[in-house]
Amino acid sequence: MRDQAIRERVVQLCLDLSRQGFLAGTGGNVAIRTDDDHMAVTASAMDYHRMQAADVCVLRLSDLQKVDGEQTPSVESSLHARVLKARPDCRVSIHTHQPVASACALLGQSITVYDPMLWASVGAIVPVVGYAPSGTGWLASKLAAAIRPDRNAYLMLNHGVLCCGPDVDAAQRTVEDLERVCQRHLGERIAARATTDPARREPLQRVLSLLAHEPQHKT
Ligand SMILES: [Zn+2]
Repeated sequence: MRDQAIRERVVQLCLDLSRQGFLAGTGGNVAIRTDDDHMAVTASAMDYHRMQAADVCVLRLSDLQKVDGEQTPSVESSLHARVLKARPDCRVSIHTHQPVASACALLGQSITVYDPMLWASVGAIVPVVGYAPSGTGWLASKLAAAIRPDRNAYLMLNHGVLCCGPDVDAAQRTVEDLERVCQRHLGERIAARATTDPARREPLQRVLSLLAHEPQHKT
């Protein structure tokens, strides 16, 4: 089996993200570059707790031709390939439906990151990429058009998020930092609404309380 160590790393990363609550069921997918021309990507619709290294597919970045792997590759393979081609500095691309950031992806507004400590990980702005159906070249093209070298996190309207990074640890940290940025952003919006809309203050306070207890960094 070629690229065994990297394929095992894909499996481990999926298990870690799943344990942290960022990948639910078979949702979300992950790609790690194996060399300049190939990536290892999760199989389509596979339970991450059953996935083995042999199930991880190795695809050619230029045309998504499968060169190794026993399963059908993720429907979002073209999305990951576009990211890795547009960002030669990145080895890792992660797509999740993580809870709070995905809620922000429903709002359709880019998010300003106020904490400069997070700019290297996330970027100063988290843009929103317009909606296109999952697994389509249309979605991959829209995301590719938004990619910038200083932005590692992207919201996909009505869908989820895409994070990328130079290595597994950095990309995983971006996923975690993005969730925290979105937690704060959503919390501020809800608090502002509770102030201006007294009739809804109580239910909004309950939502705020739930949001504050959204688990993070469950390792
Ligand atoms: Zn998705």
